[in-house]
Amino acid sequence: MKPEDITSFRKALEEQLASLTKVSGDHQKLLDEAHETQDFVGGDRAAELETMEVDASVAESEFLLQKKIQHALERIDSGTYGVCEACGKEIPRARLEAKPSVSLCLTCQEAHEANG
Ligand SMILES: [Zn+2]
Repeated sequence: MKPEDITSFRKALEEQLASLTKVSGDHQKLLDEAHETQDFVGGDRAAELETMEVDASVAESEFLLQKKIQHALERIDSGTYGVCEACGKEIPRARLEAKPSVSLCLTCQEAHEANG
């Protein structure tokens, strides 16, 4: 991969990470507030809990994505970005452009998902 490609992927990853950090911070705040509100209000707890559960799983997937992006940035630093972590082949550029945080080629990703 060319240095200018690396630079543009790094930029994309950093931007994604920055906006994700902001969004997940907001969600964390909302979750905290929801906890506080529940302590005071009680009331229609079932509906509230259901909403909370959705928010918590969103927050969790945001957290996991943040980890993946940080990992991708580390791989840029170590010069292994764009190489599949499982088979060592180059990840197709189109796949990286669609999702710069991927660390597996499509074949390995599918095998990984098939294994759960
Ligand atoms: Zn692979």
